[in-house]
Amino acid sequence: MNKKRTKIVATISDKNCEPGFIRELYEEGMDVVRINSAHLNLEGAQKIIDNVRKVSDKIAILLDTKGPEIRTTICDSPIPVKKGSNITITGNPDKKSTPGKIFVSLKTFAKDIPLGSLVMIDDGDIELKVIKKEGESLICKADNDGMIGSRKSVNIPSVKINLPSLTEKDRTFIELAARNDIEFIAHSFVRSKQDVLDVQAEIDKHKSEIKIIAKIENQEGVENLSDIMEVVYGIMVARGDLAIEIPYEKIPPIQRMIISRCIYCRKPVIVATQMLQSMITNPRPTRAEVSDIANAIYSQTDAIMLSGETANGKYPVEAVKTMTRVALEVENNKEKFLETPYLNVTGEISAYLAKVAVKTSLRISAKGIIADTTGGKTIRDMASFRGFNLIMSQCYSERTMRELALSYGVYSNFQERRKSIDEFIHIALKNLVKTHDLKADDLIVVLAGNFNAGSGFSFIEVGTVQYLKDRVSIKGDQ
Ligand code: PEP
Repeated sequence: MNKKRTKIVATISDKNCEPGFIRELYEEGMDVVRINSAHLNLEGAQKIIDNVRKVSDKIAILLDTKGPEIRTTICDSPIPVKKGSNITITGNPDKKSTPGKIFVSLKTFAKDIPLGSLVMIDDGDIELKVIKKEGESLICKADNDGMIGSRKSVNIPSVKINLPSLTEKDRTFIELAARNDIEFIAHSFVRSKQDVLDVQAEIDKHKSEIKIIAKIENQEGVENLSDIMEVVYGIMVARGDLAIEIPYEKIPPIQRMIISRCIYCRKPVIVATQMLQSMITNPRPTRAEVSDIANAIYSQTDAIMLSGETANGKYPVEAVKTMTRVALEVENNKEKFLETPYLNVTGEISAYLAKVAVKTSLRISAKGIIADTTGGKTIRDMASFRGFNLIMSQCYSERTMRELALSYGVYSNFQERRKSIDEFIHIALKNLVKTHDLKADDLIVVLAGNFNAGSGFSFIEVGTVQYLKDRVSIKGDQ
């Protein structure tokens, strides 16, 4: 079985989430389902969660919260904008927008935005320049023609706005996420460590183990990355908003920088948005999109993400297939794995043994690495060395098994805790020979601990599948 190491996150909408469709995406290589709360109500999100759980207990679920964002209010029909015309913007979430008069969700908008700022509407499709302040309103000049529909995004590049970390809607979605014990919350517009701590406090209220992924999508988030990294589980390079808030030519170096910082700190990282945008309407990707995916994989991201391509595109299954094909091709190059990324593991026995296991498995052409885990930290440590061989982690918790679906090169099974290490290896291999096409004389590297649960790895062993598996027999086995 040929499995890719780079993971795929696919956004699913409640309009197209039947189990058969989710199964098709899963079989083509989707590892994590993303639910975007900006476009759903609670019932819609619940329907997706229920259907994902019907398909497989190995698919992780990531809920994307809206976070501190500004939107235009609703309008009866799309409002035309003419280049050079004046538009008034006023902060009032309760008023409808009409031609020439746009209302936005932030009440203090006119006070917070300085003269001369650019106001980008609908992912930057319409650019307005603030030329005057009149009481509670801003007078802006349109830099291009376009249309403004209901509830469109509003970005003000390089301006810091004092918005709370979470909205009321975010809180109701976090409650739903906790009730369903989903794996990840990806919080939008994380600007600082405090934003993450506020989300964590909300999660803690529900005594939930949900992990937080910080979406980096503006200048403040990029500037405060080191502080943010101290308190999050992982990072998403949210290029959609990032490329509006920051000049787009700066996105490729920022993407590279974030990926390498995440690898160094052993935190999962996702590259998101417009990876296969043209496949929303076309069955084949553009050459540039294929190169964009390859570039993220050469940088050794944990995961790549699909948004509209799978949520409402015409070719969702083909989009996942495309990512899988590109990943398998780019990853199929042993040379690139000879140098493990530099991580500081001085004094950490477990992490150092993980590094040796990754190197050993490559040098002796082993077929994979088996390791057991309770909370997954040691497995994520190992994944950060970005080895060539798959890590077939054996998890004593189903939740951990799903969380690891986001980590580079990790494929997990659930196992009850066994009486001895030999038993754990036996059960692991008994399952893996069925799913991973292992042969009796294939070499396997085992990484395990002789101490108590949670104490990390203490030794590495290398043996053939047959030797390691048949060292013990368990009652009831054939
Ligand atoms: C993004 O901006 O890239 C992103 C992933 O966020 P959203 O899809 O919520 O705009």
